Amino acid sequence: MKKKLIVGNWKMNGSLAANASLVQALRAGMAEGTACGVALAVPAPYLAQIQSLCAGSRIDLAAQDVSQHEAGAFTGEVSAAMLRDFGVRYVLVGHSERRQFHGESDATVAAKAQRALAAGITPIVCVGETLAEREAGQTEAVVRRQLAAVIHANGRCISEVVVAYEPVWAIGTGKTASPAQAQEVHAALRSQLAAATAHAEAMLLLYGGSMNAANAAQLLAEQDIDGGLVGGASLKASDFLSIIAAAQSKASRS
Ligand code: PEP
Repeated sequence: MKKKLIVGNWKMNGSLAANASLVQALRAGMAEGTACGVALAVPAPYLAQIQSLCAGSRIDLAAQDVSQHEAGAFTGEVSAAMLRDFGVRYVLVGHSERRQFHGESDATVAAKAQRALAAGITPIVCVGETLAEREAGQTEAVVRRQLAAVIHANGRCISEVVVAYEPVWAIGTGKTASPAQAQEVHAALRSQLAAATAHAEAMLLLYGGSMNAANAAQLLAEQDIDGGLVGGASLKASDFLSIIAAAQSKASRS
């Protein structure tokens, strides 16, 4: 059985005080022997705080971005080696907010995934179509193009990435892809990965886009949905704990 993975994306939210109470509530509420992976993608300044708050727990640390460069004159950037210094296990690359507001191209996203892998950090590669692209019937072409760039740049290491399908129209909007819509895209991504690696079945494909306590169980019941990337609902301990509980009760095929 493959364990599901639930990743909270705090985006640009938090404070020292709010983070401490959120993590304490998560630690208190997570059942012993939690049967799914849990990670928190936190703003870079809080990595040290969350590393220390999560020490000895089942919560892994994740970052929200990484530089495509190794080191040097890149003011404001954070390198993969720096993330590794704080025990970061996962890093988001290609989140639609980075693609949209920071002009990240498929090639940049692929380079970031490469940097993360080289540092021993698992990139969570985000792909997803806009509403206009979906309405134009381009969903599969768009996500395949985005993933192809990462496959091309990473060769055989591709089996070490996590992929997150996040339809842009569903992020932070309260509109969720139906389980069938999400499964259809996940199946397409899985078959694209299968053409590149013998390990595609074991890879984790997360769904993200307004996942919440009410819809998580149905989404996570789909055959190719191996977990969730959760934005807004990860900021409220009770909601995030409900999503974790839904993931624990489901197991993907391996
Ligand atoms: C996200 O930021 O990756 C996300 C899925 O956000 P939300 O759950 O708020 O739609």
